[in-house]
Amino acid sequence: MEDVIIAGAGPNGLMLACELALAGVRPLVLERLPAPTAENRANGLVGQVVRLLDRRGLHERLDGPIGPAAPAFVFGALRLDLTLAERNSLHLLGVPQRRVEAMLGERAAELGVEIRRGHEVTGLVQDADAVALDVTGPEGSYRLDARYLVGADGGRSITRKLAGIGFPGVTEDRTLSYTANATVPAEFTDPGSGGLRVPGHGVIPPFFHHRTETGLFVYAPFPAGPLLSSMEWTDDEEPADEPPMTLDDLRASIRRVLGCDLPLGAPEGDGPHLLRRLRGRNTRLADRFRDGRVLLVGDAAHVHSALGGPGLNLGLQDAVNLGWKLAATVGGRAPEGLLDTYESERRPVAQRVVMHTQAQSALISPGSNVTALRELFGELLRLPGTVQHIADLMSGADVRYAPGTDHPLDGRWAPDLVLADGTRLAELTTTARPLLLDFTGSLGDELRGWTGRVDLVAGHAEGEATALLVRPDGYVAWATSAAEPDDVERKALRAALERWFGHPLDA
Ligand SMILES: Cc1cc2nc3c(=O)[nH]c(=O)nc-3n(C[C@H](O)[C@H](O)[C@H](O)COP(=O)(O)OP(=O)(O)OC[C@H]3O[C@@H](n4cnc5c(N)ncnc54)[C@H](O)[C@@H]3O)c2cc1C
Repeated sequence: MEDVIIAGAGPNGLMLACELALAGVRPLVLERLPAPTAENRANGLVGQVVRLLDRRGLHERLDGPIGPAAPAFVFGALRLDLTLAERNSLHLLGVPQRRVEAMLGERAAELGVEIRRGHEVTGLVQDADAVALDVTGPEGSYRLDARYLVGADGGRSITRKLAGIGFPGVTEDRTLSYTANATVPAEFTDPGSGGLRVPGHGVIPPFFHHRTETGLFVYAPFPAGPLLSSMEWTDDEEPADEPPMTLDDLRASIRRVLGCDLPLGAPEGDGPHLLRRLRGRNTRLADRFRDGRVLLVGDAAHVHSALGGPGLNLGLQDAVNLGWKLAATVGGRAPEGLLDTYESERRPVAQRVVMHTQAQSALISPGSNVTALRELFGELLRLPGTVQHIADLMSGADVRYAPGTDHPLDGRWAPDLVLADGTRLAELTTTARPLLLDFTGSLGDELRGWTGRVDLVAGHAEGEATALLVRPDGYVAWATSAAEPDDVERKALRAALERWFGHPLDA
């Protein structure tokens, strides 16, 4: 019997596999496709997920050391001037999804995870003790048993369907978008900004979502070659046998959206080059993230518009939230109800992503009433408080899990502390162990009973806390600002240790 089987080796399944392995459980990953896909979806990571990768030492592998947060971003095709925000945590990492997947696949292999490619989950039944899976592989069908199954098998998740978990929401079928790698003549580019000079529109900044009355246009000059995207509204039915998309389709769509011709040329350099036509948009949220011994992560649990790129910020943090909790449950050391906090913590976060992607979709829709709404929203986005609110919403910095105390850091993502000896918190969290950072030098004894489960870090760091208990997923489970924590705070610390890491054992 396997401890955990993960259906799907997309980014979220692979991240979960790494987290489980770090916590001592080697999952088996089953992936339907025989080889990693060349298809690219995400062009980058947006928000707290960038810091999360840093805290696992994975940012280094993609793009060297983490840099500062972005000076600007976009919300509903309106510019978000992040220099107005007091605290900016909106980090961007412009790497294609297939590179993220390749990196996570390598990391999972280093951690000893078996990934069976070409093996598709086709059936499941569960009882109180186990999940029995039907799997179809290159040699035929076979059966596997596992204590837990995690569906990381994308928006059309068979795991979700077989577990009988509903996926309510809306399908909006009026959008039609074309995206392709292409070249643009030099006279259309603006060397100063890196954007595009478009007759009638001035300079369209790079990576900006440019909305017109008929659609949305994006010019993304990636180092590997420019990517152009045009989205419009259509009442046309999808033809029964639509021919594959060509660059001419993108040219025609740009003409409709921008009202002028952009003389696009064939892409240069090594491929694979993207030519993608997408119809419609789904916004759906699983009505449960868990049914017995079956859990869902990533797109299997939620799908929404890709506007603002929130998908992997949400999904990879689902995986990291679930990993340590599931490992503790499998290892028999989880406190009562720990696994249920996966859904109680992550579903509300998914609901907010659904909310803001739908709000952004409304802001880019056609119509003069939307244009008026945009004008008003644009005025609001010149107010620092509004920019802060939207930036925190998009990065995930506004997430606060149910705190155990009223300390402002309790329940929040741990700040990027740097110890007096120069060690960054991110260097201490690569192993995904729970940490008690004790800058008071007095709390070590409180860990008696959790020895081997929670690591003590002594030292000193500037900041609003003198001690913090940090969960493996990077969230603060307890904090104090006292130089000498009193009995009440010590008791709260022990309560937090018990709440997240189980009863004391050797006290
Ligand atoms: C056009 C587009 C652009 C996007 N841009 C961004 C962006 O810029 N930033 C961002 O963060 N997000 C973006 N996203 C969202 C992001 O791509 C998804 O959130 C992400 O792929 C979800 O990962 P996942 O691992 O949950 O699912 P998937 O990536 O869908 O992976 C699921 C895996 O499960 C496998 N599988 C399916 N069924 C089975 C089965 N029965 N048995 C075994 N294996 C199975 C599949 O083959 C697949 O490998 C974009 C999405 C789209 C469509």
